[in-house]
Amino acid sequence: MYTALRLQRKLKQELKRGEVEIVVVTPDPYMTYQPFLPEAAAGSISPRHVVVPLRRVLDRCRVVIGEARSINHAKRTAEVATLATEEEGTGPDQIGYDELVLAPGSVSRTLPIPGLAEFAIGFKTVEEAIGLRNHVIEQMDIASSTRDPAIRDAALTFVFVGGGYAGVEALGELEDMARYATRYYHNVKADDMKWILVEASNRILPEVGEAMGKYTVTQLRRRNIDVRLETRLDSCTDRVAVLDDGARFPTRTVVWTAGVKPHPVLAATDLPLNERGRLKCTPQLALDGATHAWAAGDAAAVPDVTTAEPGRETAPNAQHAVRQAKVLGDNIAHSLRGEPLETYSHKYVGSVASLGLHKGVAHVYGRKLKGYPAWFMHRVYHLSRVPTVNRKARVLAEWILSGLFKREIVSLGSLEHPRAEFELAAGGKPPRDPKGSS
Ligand SMILES: Cc1cc2nc3c(=O)[nH]c(=O)nc-3n(C[C@H](O)[C@H](O)[C@H](O)COP(=O)(O)OP(=O)(O)OC[C@H]3O[C@@H](n4cnc5c(N)ncnc54)[C@H](O)[C@@H]3O)c2cc1C
Repeated sequence: MYTALRLQRKLKQELKRGEVEIVVVTPDPYMTYQPFLPEAAAGSISPRHVVVPLRRVLDRCRVVIGEARSINHAKRTAEVATLATEEEGTGPDQIGYDELVLAPGSVSRTLPIPGLAEFAIGFKTVEEAIGLRNHVIEQMDIASSTRDPAIRDAALTFVFVGGGYAGVEALGELEDMARYATRYYHNVKADDMKWILVEASNRILPEVGEAMGKYTVTQLRRRNIDVRLETRLDSCTDRVAVLDDGARFPTRTVVWTAGVKPHPVLAATDLPLNERGRLKCTPQLALDGATHAWAAGDAAAVPDVTTAEPGRETAPNAQHAVRQAKVLGDNIAHSLRGEPLETYSHKYVGSVASLGLHKGVAHVYGRKLKGYPAWFMHRVYHLSRVPTVNRKARVLAEWILSGLFKREIVSLGSLEHPRAEFELAAGGKPPRDPKGSS
């Protein structure tokens, strides 16, 4: 979105004269601002406001809702499956191009752990964040209404695997929300819930540095969260999470946030990849070994020119992705005009993470912050980064309103089954069995 946005500004005259066309292929008609997903899961921001509608922002581009299945760069064509091609069964459309920008991001890096694919959920999309929020509240409802202690225990046990941004922030925000929600349950107390964070290495949140990572572990443990370092998930079949330290947790919730890998579509191209499957780039964000092809973000292996360390690449995070996208847009315009290209150079400034309402941790520009100041900084930083004035205003308004009123603890899980009521009325399927919900 940022590259296309930059290009439509830089190539305004060429677009007007019809010399240029910018085509954006995207499976969803919106861009997701992922750093806000944990707050969306906690109910502090509504799901619509963590996404930016592409058709409105990219008003001079052609937006195609579809998914690139493969790219033949030698022939300058992309095979794109759209809703229409799927429905008609005609096979993917062929879209020809002169310049290619490939930025499909990353997908969850999973391992062949028994039960993982069937049972766990990731935390990368707005659907997953909202689904998880509804699920957690639904589990509290199940625990509140069942007479079976085993069902109650499993419903109130939440296992998160992976202690990076996504895992720690998602757990921190959801635990905080659920703890708050217990005040509205007559028979579910905060201490009845088990929140478990499983991390294979000996530290969490490497993005905020070692000292702040240790502080985060202490803070989470103080909240009664069971942080298990140097521990792995062995299996999660039959709704039991088994860890390699021998612990077994009957649970209905396993959230997998143990890292990312490059998007699989990269392997369906004839473009140069590095040994980890990311697109090999020059510091100017062109592909190293292919002409008229460019990349940015999590999918791109971009040399980090701010360090003398040989072979060092920029990390896959939003801080780089957004900045790279702007340089990339500029460089395409430069290359079309025969001008020299810019080099992408950004020194990682550190990170901020939220651990729940008024709780956070930060390590930015060498300064370490904890608790409320870090949380406040997290909000200010991300408000400044979320795209469009429209979204900034809406998010800010929501934060102000949620400061004035009580937190939202409603679950709208039934939105995921909009026909259930009608099917029942029409004499079709019986309503959902709450025990069967996952
Ligand atoms: C919960 C969470 C919290 C995070 N918090 C932070 C943070 O605080 N700070 C930070 O710096 N980073 C954070 N990150 C990481 C950051 O969000 C990513 O690094 C960043 O989004 C990468 O940008 P990208 O454009 O490369 O990929 P994405 O943002 O993933 O965008 C890729 C887009 O390509 C689309 N796509 C995929 N495949 C295809 C295809 N075949 N055809 C067409 N389109 C396709 C996808 O649908 C998606 O819209 C967080 C990530 C998560 C999940």
